[in-house]
Amino acid sequence: MKVKNDKTYRLLKKKHIIPSIIGLLVTFALLAVLAGLFSGLMVAYVVDSKLENEYRHVENMAKLYEYNEANGGKYDYDEFNRSDREFLIVDSENNVLHEKGENTCSFDGDVVLSADEALKIQVYYDTEDECIKIDDKSFEIRAKKALKKVLSEVGDNNDKDLSEISTKLPFWISIPINDGEKSFVAKANISVRPTDVIAALVIFIIAATVVSLFFIIAIIKIIKRFLRQRKLMNMFFRDTVTEGRNWMWFVIKSEQLLKKKKNDKNNYAIINIEFVKYNNYCVCHSLEEGEVALKTINEMIERTLDKKEFCAHHGTASFGVLMQYIDEAKLKNRVSNLVNVLEGVDAVHKFGFHVGVRTLPVRYLENKSYADRKDINTEVEYSNACVASASLSNSDESGIAFFDEKLIEEQKWIDAVTERQQSAIDNEEFMVYYQPKYDPNTGKLRGAEALIRWQSPEFGFVTPGRIIPIFEKNGFITEIDHYMITHVARDQKRWLDEGFSCVPVSVNVSRAHFIESNLAEQIRDMVDKEGAPRNLIEIELTESAFFDDKKALVTTITRLKEYGFAVSMDDFGAGYSSLNSLKDLPLDVLKLDADFFRGESEGDRGEIVVSEAIKLAKCLNMRTVAEGVEVKEQVDFLAKQGCDMIQGFYFAKPMPKDEYEGRMRESKTEDPGEKAEENEDINEE
Ligand code: C2E
Ligand code: MG
Ligand code: MG
Repeated sequence: MKVKNDKTYRLLKKKHIIPSIIGLLVTFALLAVLAGLFSGLMVAYVVDSKLENEYRHVENMAKLYEYNEANGGKYDYDEFNRSDREFLIVDSENNVLHEKGENTCSFDGDVVLSADEALKIQVYYDTEDECIKIDDKSFEIRAKKALKKVLSEVGDNNDKDLSEISTKLPFWISIPINDGEKSFVAKANISVRPTDVIAALVIFIIAATVVSLFFIIAIIKIIKRFLRQRKLMNMFFRDTVTEGRNWMWFVIKSEQLLKKKKNDKNNYAIINIEFVKYNNYCVCHSLEEGEVALKTINEMIERTLDKKEFCAHHGTASFGVLMQYIDEAKLKNRVSNLVNVLEGVDAVHKFGFHVGVRTLPVRYLENKSYADRKDINTEVEYSNACVASASLSNSDESGIAFFDEKLIEEQKWIDAVTERQQSAIDNEEFMVYYQPKYDPNTGKLRGAEALIRWQSPEFGFVTPGRIIPIFEKNGFITEIDHYMITHVARDQKRWLDEGFSCVPVSVNVSRAHFIESNLAEQIRDMVDKEGAPRNLIEIELTESAFFDDKKALVTTITRLKEYGFAVSMDDFGAGYSSLNSLKDLPLDVLKLDADFFRGESEGDRGEIVVSEAIKLAKCLNMRTVAEGVEVKEQVDFLAKQGCDMIQGFYFAKPMPKDEYEGRMRESKTEDPGEKAEENEDINEE
């Protein structure tokens, strides 16, 4: 799963931020434009509409004045004087030739454009206006100030008739006459009234309402989208079982976090926590209860994590965790505490967890700066953590394993063996080696054990220790057991036919095989098919098999015995005590584990245990075989204790068929005791 490329995720991520920002920006831009439009409209309303009217009025007066002059002054100035408007006649230098009313013109001003820009109007400011300061270019500012003044007057004079309130915009309009020789300068009569304010206010309210509505709609949309997106993100990244974050989220988040430059200075670990025997738990209880347990486990892990750490459910019963750490010892301690807590999730059952830890420590470059983790692939690192936890899978107990490159080699070996197992059977690459068992008193060959070896064209000679655990795990061991039984039966039959004095050969049968209810019948049929007498085949069970379903085990053993096979308990004394099994199971042979004859178990105490085990076997009518015997003293001791057979390097190592044939021939003629002493010398060397 390469979630980084997931389109849906990217789509969700994009929608999450960008549209909201764009929406907001657009709303604010609109707001600003509308506000600008409003103030422009307001000023234009007050100034432009009135200014042009006034201009036309003064222009008419100027034309009349010009006409009068052209007609020889038919009318005197009184005609104009009768109007209530102050005006001046000035020459081109602004010298006053005639004036009506008080002359307060400053002759300082500007050219103003009419609203449609068709007219250029020369205006002069009034000298007497104190409340409105003349600003060089700003006609608009003057208009705004006038509006303000009206507003304040409305506020201050509540009882005053509104129609009486008005503020003049005092300025003069100059119109050239007589081809520019003179100018007709008249005081403009523009005033700002409360009705103007009301009109402006109405415009403002409409504009503000439209802007607010727009803004509110935009905000609602953004919030809705945000909530919808959150819901979607939650659905997309929610684990259906634990209701926590899902695996896709974990991979994306951890990769983001690990790739951040500022985190390069921190040690991180990716951890795989595997709930051991989850399926068994579900079978014994229910799937629902299993899922409740997973949910609780997820919550418990989450509770132990710090801010920049997270976890997610993965696969059936695994959890991925990203943790920060200071040093490996402290990390192990922390993980171990976590496992202790998790083991107690269920009040009745003690759960088991296999924990694999892949550390991602801070790395330094040659110049001692921090190496970034931008090439990191979380999924690969997690699979390394899984390789580490898989190395614990031989046990159901909780355990913690740190990833090591060697584990990858091991995994590669497992894959290689698994890939080739079937062809190895088909091409008869597996060989049966025989390890003879001798009577310690007479030195006679009494039996042998068949042990597998793999003569691989690629890997050469491979011992069982490197392949049997793999086959046991992947289930192929049942094929191996069939192969071995068939080949041993075939060999026995041939040896009988060739006149060898055959002895029983024991074959290891894996505990995985014992879940098959017709195992005894399968073995019987295989042996019968090869034509070998059943009493020349013995079935060895490892001690650990005795912890499985005892009833089924008793049935299978009883049936095997009924069919004429001898059954032995292998590796007795290794690992767990199986005295109890001896009580219930009708076994023929007890094989004392090689551990009895090695290391610390040597000496008086070891001897006591061995002699008591032999006595116990005798009381239960069982024969005894001592495994792993390498020195003469042990042989002598075992002979004294009444041990029936000895299988060990002292007498012989596991050997190929033809060599074993030689041993069978020898045992008829010579005393193997002498041969054994030679062996001992070789072993010592
Ligand atoms: P096991 O069945 O307990 O076999 C005895 C092992 O002890 C053999 O190891 C044998 O070589 C070794 N051994 C015997 N005497 C001595 C001794 O004096 N000193 C030392 N150091 N070792 C001694 P091997 O052949 O490597 O087999 C290991 C295990 O692999 C066997 O233990 C058995 O559990 C398993 N195995 C071998 N072949 C088969 C097979 O065909 N089927 C199954 N299911 N398991 C097999
Ligand atoms: Mg064995
Ligand atoms: Mg053994």
